[in-house]
Amino acid sequence: MKAAPQFNKLALIGFGLIGGSIARAAREQHLAGEIVTTARSAKTRGRVAELGIVDAVVETNAEAVKDADLVILCIPVGACGEVAQEIAPYLKPGAIVSDVGSVKGAVVKDMAPHLPNAHFVPAHPVAGTEHSGPDSGFAELFINRWCILTPPEGTDPGAVERLRAFWAALGAKVETMTPDHHDLVLAITSHLPHLIAYTIVGTADELGQVTSSEVMKFSAGGFRDFTRIAASDPTMWRDVFLANKEAVLEMLGTFNEDLSKLTRAIRRGDGEALFEHFTRTRAIRRGIVEIGQDSAAPDFGRPHAHLSKKPG
Ligand code: NAP
Repeated sequence: MKAAPQFNKLALIGFGLIGGSIARAAREQHLAGEIVTTARSAKTRGRVAELGIVDAVVETNAEAVKDADLVILCIPVGACGEVAQEIAPYLKPGAIVSDVGSVKGAVVKDMAPHLPNAHFVPAHPVAGTEHSGPDSGFAELFINRWCILTPPEGTDPGAVERLRAFWAALGAKVETMTPDHHDLVLAITSHLPHLIAYTIVGTADELGQVTSSEVMKFSAGGFRDFTRIAASDPTMWRDVFLANKEAVLEMLGTFNEDLSKLTRAIRRGDGEALFEHFTRTRAIRRGIVEIGQDSAAPDFGRPHAHLSKKPG
């Protein structure tokens, strides 16, 4: 016998990598009696209908949220305030409204004032890929990944618990923190690494002495992993840097100081300083593998070709 769904109606506004993955996983786990979705463009709505993953695809945000007991905004951070304002009059009393934005302080500031009659529980699943759009999602995306909830002060604990249970059922490990702390932590673990990847790929592209074809040809040595990150969605990441300006600038300041120290060590031929630094960072990587946040397989577990054996 199947367990009763956690929510009668789940409404997803936006159906890209994250919305599409939530829909697929929630359907597999029978978490909602009905899943209704919408997206901004007719093209995406048409594609979602073709995929046949949800119960209904509707044209407007107002129609999507009607009678829903859980509404999740799966759209770029910069659009969340406007959409919250648009849906507010159509929400069922007592509905839980959430989002999946990669920045929390700005989203809370933009959304909360429009939602005095709903239970607003912001969330950020710390899981993703460089792909976007309705075909990019997959049900396993959140398994063993963190989902951070940042409920504003005074949020109903029952609503927080229901959203925690929802994310746990999608496979995520759930933690709660304040929006500001979230933004500081993610500035160093996610936003700054993306900025560095965007920078280095752009720099390589503009080099005079090394041709673009050489960069592509020899990209296996580290650069390839930066190109994967730098292929992430431009709209999403533009919004992340605009919305998390303060924390990113703070981390960037510290990063620049550390880069200057390494630059000086290289200029002075200070091998000891370099060796010490690289030993410390290697231990951090081992720690990440030990707590199960990545694979210890060489080259991130990518399959490798083998030399075919010569006969005889
Ligand atoms: P995505 O694949 O590009 O999908 C975005 C969805 O939002 C699409 O359905 C799009 O509709 C809709 N949309 C775009 N602009 C909109 C606007 N101005 N108003 C209303 N809807 C709009 O993006 P995603 O990767 O799922 O990201 C969605 C959210 O998840 C973002 O807030 C991001 O910060 C967060 N997030 C992303 C990742 C990641 O790795 N990608 C990880 C964690 C959290 P159309 O297709 O019709 O344009």
